[in-house]
Amino acid sequence: MGKFMCRCGKLLSNSLDPNEVELWVYTDKEFSEKVTDKESTWLIDLPEYAVWRCTRCERIYFFKDLQPVKVYKLEEDWQDDGEDEDDDEEEGEVVIIET
Ligand SMILES: [Zn+2]
Repeated sequence: MGKFMCRCGKLLSNSLDPNEVELWVYTDKEFSEKVTDKESTWLIDLPEYAVWRCTRCERIYFFKDLQPVKVYKLEEDWQDDGEDEDDDEEEGEVVIIET
């Protein structure tokens, strides 16, 4: 894809191979559909979105047709231990639901 300027001012590029910017993100459904009968990861179809992660601020950009369509910014206090007494659920706790 080339280069992209993050909102934090960092110039991102995927010209290096491998690089720390480009993520390969599939939903489980998408991965199952694309991997069927494929013998090599090089033969797997590209995911729906190109996903880049800024190496400075960790923002995540989703691109479609070379245009950014979604951006996610890391919440600075997401790992706070601050207890909210009125909240029954523990923040940051991963809940695995059996299927
Ligand atoms: Zn950034």
